[in-house]
Amino acid sequence: MFEMRGVRRQNRGRLQNQGFTLNEQTLSRRLERVAAHVPQGARLADIGSDHGFLPVALMLRGVIEAGVAGEVAQTPFASAQRTVRRNGLEARVTVRLADGLAAVEPQDRISVVSLCGMGGETMCEILEAGKQRLAGVTRLVLQPNGAERDLRQWLVGNGYRIVSEELLRENRFDYEIIVAEPGVAVYTAEQLYFGPVLMQEKSEAFMVKWRRMLRQKQQTLANFQRARDAVPQAKIDDFNLQVGWITQVLG
Ligand code: SAM
Repeated sequence: MFEMRGVRRQNRGRLQNQGFTLNEQTLSRRLERVAAHVPQGARLADIGSDHGFLPVALMLRGVIEAGVAGEVAQTPFASAQRTVRRNGLEARVTVRLADGLAAVEPQDRISVVSLCGMGGETMCEILEAGKQRLAGVTRLVLQPNGAERDLRQWLVGNGYRIVSEELLRENRFDYEIIVAEPGVAVYTAEQLYFGPVLMQEKSEAFMVKWRRMLRQKQQTLANFQRARDAVPQAKIDDFNLQVGWITQVLG
């Protein structure tokens, strides 16, 4: 059975999350926040869509004009097909079995691509492999599970600027949402690490996350000290750098 962060896939295309059934009517808080960044009238490709809840919910709400749910794996692909079918949306939300952005075809005229709930490294690979399919796309809505710094680095290196960011905590996990649009931007190493918008806004969720991260990194550094011979100096230096940045951002 497929396991998501804090959410277990149920065998009838429905999810239980702290007593709530998650489906195309009731999105998780995380997907609701992603949905909030999809503009009215968008033509959305949701890559790694799994159950297809995001594009179907946005179509039912009248937010998107057209949707593509892309899935690389057979079981979630079938699940997305069921979600689309039970809502009678076959003509408006296309489900494709495809690797990454190969799910996007020129005739879709996609304006927004979302990638959610997968590792940031995987997202970089998907974006890199499918760059040429992003022509005409005016917004990327990304919710990586980790490697946010790598993802920001990919974005800035490939002609995107970050226009919005959010950090939220759900089911004991911190989730970052990064919204990017074509444009030129220059970010410092700290901005890539914390998120340029997040570090400027310093929300309560941001402060809580980084206080926790500081404690973890200080603990790791203490462990490094105890096993000094075994840990490369470059790794210790990197942790010290991060601890310095976090201490500074927390003020
Ligand atoms: N996007 C949904 C969400 O955030 O709730 C589902 C997240 S689920 C954890 C990740 C999904 O991404 C899985 O269904 C997996 O099959 C799909 N996936 C992973 N790599 C992919 C790729 N290269 N192309 C398309 N889908 C992919």
